[in-house]
Amino acid sequence: MVGKNNKKIARLVNTLLGDGPLKNLLSEIGVIVVDYKDKRTITNDIWKELDISDNHSYERSWPQFLHPEDRKRVEADLKDLVEGKTDYFQDVYRIKGRSGGWRWISNRGGVVLRNPDGSPWIFIGDDEDLTRIKEAQEEASLRAREATILNATIGVITSSLNLDETVHRILEQAQRLVPYDRASVQILHDGYLRIIGGMGFSDNNLISDLKFPYPEENSLSTRAIQERHPWMSNDVQEDFPKFIQVEVDRQTRSWIGAPLIAHGDVIGLLSFDSNNKSFYTHRHLELARAFAGPVAIALENARMHGETYNLAMIDALTGIGSRHSFDLNSRFLFEKARREKHSISLAMLDLDHFKDVNDDFGHQVGDIVLKDISKACEDGLRTTDMIARYGGEEIVILLPETEVKVALDIIERIRRGVSNLKFEGVNRSVTLSAGISGFIPDRDSSLSEILKEADAALYKAKAKGRNCIVAY
Ligand code: GH3
Ligand code: MG
Ligand code: MG
Repeated sequence: MVGKNNKKIARLVNTLLGDGPLKNLLSEIGVIVVDYKDKRTITNDIWKELDISDNHSYERSWPQFLHPEDRKRVEADLKDLVEGKTDYFQDVYRIKGRSGGWRWISNRGGVVLRNPDGSPWIFIGDDEDLTRIKEAQEEASLRAREATILNATIGVITSSLNLDETVHRILEQAQRLVPYDRASVQILHDGYLRIIGGMGFSDNNLISDLKFPYPEENSLSTRAIQERHPWMSNDVQEDFPKFIQVEVDRQTRSWIGAPLIAHGDVIGLLSFDSNNKSFYTHRHLELARAFAGPVAIALENARMHGETYNLAMIDALTGIGSRHSFDLNSRFLFEKARREKHSISLAMLDLDHFKDVNDDFGHQVGDIVLKDISKACEDGLRTTDMIARYGGEEIVILLPETEVKVALDIIERIRRGVSNLKFEGVNRSVTLSAGISGFIPDRDSSLSEILKEADAALYKAKAKGRNCIVAY
């Protein structure tokens, strides 16, 4: 566009820039015209919304509204345009909108007329507001990222069957989805919620066995549980003045509570605390909800596994270890003794004439006697010792780091104690006999050999007249 057309173009621009319906139409479709010489501009509707009016010294003022990451690049391109290195401009950049948020603008255009010295005279271009599209793209990638994190966290929490470990993992993983200063897993009981694990507390003693009343009027937790969906407060003091503040100097200001629902039942609450007011967003609430589902299942599984474990490892009648627990743990304790070159003793106990107890007082009374004696034996041991019901009325005891002659004393004390026990409905004492054997370092014997030896010693004790102990 040179020479004879210049005048025509200048006239066209004058028409465009004059007030009238054409100008409005162009403005609506995003056209922008800049007359550098007379400092006049048609600012389109997009720019008007950004609050850059026609009266502004447009070309000087607008780059100051650019996003810091875009500004240098755009300014360099504009410089090239002004210096005549190029006639064309095209970019997609963020600019601050009237509301303060960033708007994505696609802008392209060119210098259609230059002054004799080469400086721009007329620039014509158009703008397009890409904010919605960009936001949708960002939203989609954010969702994708959240879904990936959510999947990963679920994988981690469901891979453990130990309850404490599961709770720990839940709270650790939750931080990746819902940032918090403190978080806790609470289990719903009749009349209260009890914390079974927390993270971020200055002292775990603060929360061990801490209980929150349930149901409670106006309580945020109660609301979340009863309505069966997560609840949040961005001003806890205002929303629920009775909120129990666990930390004195770091009080909770924002809070999210997500009910834990497993197989249709609310089993507890996952709670997130922030020290900052207005901290949580609805997105956090959604994430808490998405996370709480698998958390509830993982907790329930770990809890049920714990029950099954107890069922297998604890003898139902006596409450001491089961035969299964002995088979599992004895091997472990025995190997440890061998490895660490410690002695370990094993005692086999059998109640005397127990058949007569059953015959004289009934099987049910016999059961109670057996239970009481088991308890008395257990009470006479250290926590590191192991006791289990080996068979009907036979009890096996493993004493790690104990030589046979020390074990003899310990079991003797137990024998004496048992012989002095009184039982309801039983008008005589019930006694036991025991055989002891043991492993000492450098003695090359197996667990089954030692078991056999203890059995043989027990047999001798019975033969000697019962209510006594024999060491192999
Ligand atoms: P001994 O002094 O020779 O050991 O005589 P005993 O009668 O105790 O003989 P033994 O150990 O062979 O008999 C075991 C008896 O213990 C058989 C059964 O009546 C009783 N018994 C075993 N398990 C239970 C139980 O779980 N409950 C009750 N009530 N009795 C049991
Ligand atoms: Mg017996
Ligand atoms: Mg027996």
